[in-house]
Amino acid sequence: MDIYERVRTAVGRVVDSGAHLNAAKASETIAKKLGLSESMVQYTHVELRNVVYEPEYKQVPFNKRVLFLPHCARHSKKCIATSNGEGFECKGCGACNINDAIKIAKKLGYKKVFIVPGGSMVKKLLVKYRPKASVGVCCFDEAQLAFDMLKRTSIIPQVVLLLRDGCKDTMINIPLLEEKLNLINPKLIKNTKKKTTRKTKKKKKL
Ligand code: SF4
Repeated sequence: MDIYERVRTAVGRVVDSGAHLNAAKASETIAKKLGLSESMVQYTHVELRNVVYEPEYKQVPFNKRVLFLPHCARHSKKCIATSNGEGFECKGCGACNINDAIKIAKKLGYKKVFIVPGGSMVKKLLVKYRPKASVGVCCFDEAQLAFDMLKRTSIIPQVVLLLRDGCKDTMINIPLLEEKLNLINPKLIKNTKKKTTRKTKKKKKL
């Protein structure tokens, strides 16, 4: 079991126990038990907040979700992305792993993927596109702000922390992001497939 799985198991146990601990206290408790590094303590804290929304998040179809990626994950010297008024448009040069994240979300059918410079742009885009759920990749401080901002709305938040944070050349944790993007009630996928098949048959008749 890798360290992420161990933390998630510990988070699950805390939640199942029904203990009324806040996320900061609970992550401290888990950190002590597992001997976690600072970055894993932050991961634990974020997972404790993610887990609260997870049941609702799983009920949101992919096409009603948006993904926000941080512009600081672009390669600071080689990036050829252009600004389009809604953040940056990746040209897929492959110098950073933003392109991999976009491909995963698009393949699943996410409504929109944005590469954004900060929280004010995120707010503007949420108001414009009105998704039912929002997945954000960001640093720990921004994650707290995002959870606090979205708890006053009906949008379901999920956060994936950066693998390497800072102001530039940060790095997205692709395996963890992929897991988070894929989290869904399997019935929703079956229903979507059934609907698509029915539509295709109808078209053929015409
Ligand atoms: S993959 Fe996209 S975001 Fe990353 S450096 Fe290339 S153009 Fe920029």
